[in-house]
Amino acid sequence: MSIECPEAHILADQMNKEVTGKTIISYETQNSQQLQQKGFISKNVVFEQIVGCKILSVIARGNTILVKLDNCWNIVLAPEYGGSISLHTSQAKPSKFHLKLDLQDIILTVNLAGIGCIQAVEDYLLKTNYLYNRDFSQTLNPLETDFTFEYFIEKLDNKKQNIKTAIVGKTAVIVGMSNSAFQDIIYRAKISPKRNTGTLTAEEKKNLYQAIIQLIKERLESGGKSQFVDLYGKPGLYISKMGSNQKGQTCATCRSKIERINHGGGQVYLCPICQK
Ligand SMILES: [Zn+2]
Repeated sequence: MSIECPEAHILADQMNKEVTGKTIISYETQNSQQLQQKGFISKNVVFEQIVGCKILSVIARGNTILVKLDNCWNIVLAPEYGGSISLHTSQAKPSKFHLKLDLQDIILTVNLAGIGCIQAVEDYLLKTNYLYNRDFSQTLNPLETDFTFEYFIEKLDNKKQNIKTAIVGKTAVIVGMSNSAFQDIIYRAKISPKRNTGTLTAEEKKNLYQAIIQLIKERLESGGKSQFVDLYGKPGLYISKMGSNQKGQTCATCRSKIERINHGGGQVYLCPICQK
């Protein structure tokens, strides 16, 4: 279960309320050695630098959460392939985490379920951080007000590519969407995953834009997608309209059997009748 932009936004919002202004008293890493070797988690010698730093703000863009510290340090968090960021009381003894931060009267833990990022990064090195570079970029963030229909269409028309590549991944026209959102969005927009954006009609582009806006709105209102848990451990209630949840089921609109195909480096569920 990947964390996408609505879930990253929910976490950053909650963290901003709870941890901004707090000082990092100490840290602890656990079961992190392998992930540290792969570079997903900073080495302990790097985390030592952030002890004593104060948290100035927490913002999310795309799938990435940036915890801005004083003394020119940052923590870049992205449970890209799932994981959790959780708040605990100072008396709690959390058992499952990769990084634990003692923040005076509360404890923050971060746990990765797969590929992800828990890195302490100095300001001057942020630009060289892969996830920061990807998500805090010029690429549109569908949660922001500059994500207008006109702007989206312009970007979409400039890149004539497969629709999955246009929505998900490094060369996408937006940040923060993964395969989970993609399946849901194109089902809502009634577009086949095999289409090239160069072949989309004006109406399909409009449907695509509205599907993205609507998906994000519903995810935020539901506290994130199912399987996601927020900072307080509360699970998200959003059930995707198309994806692995629909395995073996029929389409809610036309009652056709939902199909699964391998596409763009992952499995995509679809309705072969509704999606053209
Ligand atoms: Zn259908």
